[in-house]
Amino acid sequence: MATPQRQFACDVVAQLREAGYTALWAGGCVRDQLLGLAPKDYDVATSATPDEVRKVFGRRKTIPVGASFGVMTVLGPKKAGQIEVATFRTDGGYSDGRHPDQVQFSTPEHDAQRRDFTINGLFYDPQSEQIHDFVGGEADLLAGIVRAIGDPEARIAEDKLRMLRAVRFAARFDFAIEPATLQAVRDHAAEINQVSGERIGAEMRAMLVHPNRAAALTLLRTSELEPHVLPETVELTGDTWQELTGLVGRLEEPSYALVLAAVLSQVGDLRAGDSITSRWKLANRDADRADWILDNRPTALAADSTPWPKLQRVLIEDGAQELVALAAALAGDDSPAVVHCRERLALPPEVLNPRPLVNGGDLIAEGLQPGPHFGALLEQIRDAQLDGQITTRDEAIAMAKQ
Ligand code: ATP
Ligand code: MG
Repeated sequence: MATPQRQFACDVVAQLREAGYTALWAGGCVRDQLLGLAPKDYDVATSATPDEVRKVFGRRKTIPVGASFGVMTVLGPKKAGQIEVATFRTDGGYSDGRHPDQVQFSTPEHDAQRRDFTINGLFYDPQSEQIHDFVGGEADLLAGIVRAIGDPEARIAEDKLRMLRAVRFAARFDFAIEPATLQAVRDHAAEINQVSGERIGAEMRAMLVHPNRAAALTLLRTSELEPHVLPETVELTGDTWQELTGLVGRLEEPSYALVLAAVLSQVGDLRAGDSITSRWKLANRDADRADWILDNRPTALAADSTPWPKLQRVLIEDGAQELVALAAALAGDDSPAVVHCRERLALPPEVLNPRPLVNGGDLIAEGLQPGPHFGALLEQIRDAQLDGQITTRDEAIAMAKQ
C-alpha cells in the first residue's frame, strides 16, 4: 500500500527520470523497506545538480538546505511531506573529523562509498523494483551486521560520530557490529568527544527513546564508548547494571525525559542530571521534566501512604503520567503505590484538578493591590482549596483579604 509520502518519493524519481537524470531511493529508506519496516522518510539520490533539481521541481517547491553538499529539499503535496534530493557525490578529506572539506558530484558507485555502513549504502529503483548494491549491504542486512564501508579505522577517523551511529543502528535492529568495525570503535572511543555535544545528544536521544534502549546501553558498554559518553553509569556493574537495563527496558514508549529520569534514578551522583544536561545540550523542557520526575519519585513510590492533598498536588502536574510510569517500572504495575496513583489519575478532571476558586483578576476586582506577593497568595489559596479548608469563592476572597 502506498502512503502519500511513498507515492511522492516515486513521483520525485519519475520526474527526475523524465528530465533525463538518474534517480534512486537511497540509504535508510531502502534499508528499512528491505527489513519490512515502514521508512520514516525517503531520500532520493540523483545525477542532477542542485540547480538542475531546482529547475525540475521549480523554485517554490525546493529549499536549498545543504546546496554546498548537493542537498535540496523538495516539498510535496500536503500529506506527502518533503523529500531530500541529494546529488551523487564523493566526499573529499575530513580534516575536522566532522564535515568533508569539499564534495565532488559523482556517480552512484562513489556515492555509496561515502556512506557510513553497508546497510545504509543501498539504492533502490522504485520503478523496476531493483536494488543497486555496490557495498554488500544486502548480505549484511540479511545477516544482521553493521559493517563500516571500506576501512573502519579510516571511516571513523573521518567522522567520529559514526561510532555512536554504529551502536545506534546495531541496537535498533538487534544487529551485531562486525568485529573489525567494533575494534575500530573501541580503539577510537575516547575521540567521540571531538564531536559536538548536540550531535552526541541527538544520537543518545534516538537510542534512549527507542524500544531497544537496553540493548543500546549494553552496546555502549561493550563498544567501550560508555566512559566517554555516559560515565555516570560506569559505576553500575553486576546486579545494579541488570537493574538499570531491566528498568529502562520496562518503560513503554517513554518520553526522553522519562528515560533520563530512569537512568538517573539508578546513579548515585546527584549532579549527574546537570552534567548530562550541559554535556548533551538538552532542551530545558526535557531537563526540567526529568528533574521533576526524580524529585517526586519518593512521593509516587509511597503514594498509598501519602496524604491525598500532598499526592494530589503532584498528580495534577503535567509530568504525572510519566512519574507513575517510572514508579511502575521501579516497583511493579501491581504495587499498592502505583495502583493507588492510577486510581487517582482516573478521577474526573474536576475532582482530580478542581478549578481554582479565584484568580488574580478576582482579587484585584475585590480591591487588593496587585504586586509580587500575588503569586504566593494565590498559591496559598489553592493549597487551602486542595486541602479542603475552603470550598467557595467567598471563602477564598475572605482568606485573601486576611
Ligand atoms: P534514520 O532512520 O535513523 O534516519 P538513516 O539511515 O536515514 O536512519 P540518516 O542520519 O537520516 O540515517 O542519514 C541518511 C543516510 O545518509 C544514511 O543512511 C547514510 O547513508 C548517510 N549518512 C548519514 N550520516 C552519515 C555519516 N555520519 N557518515 C556517512 N554517511 C552518513
Ligand atoms: Mg533518515
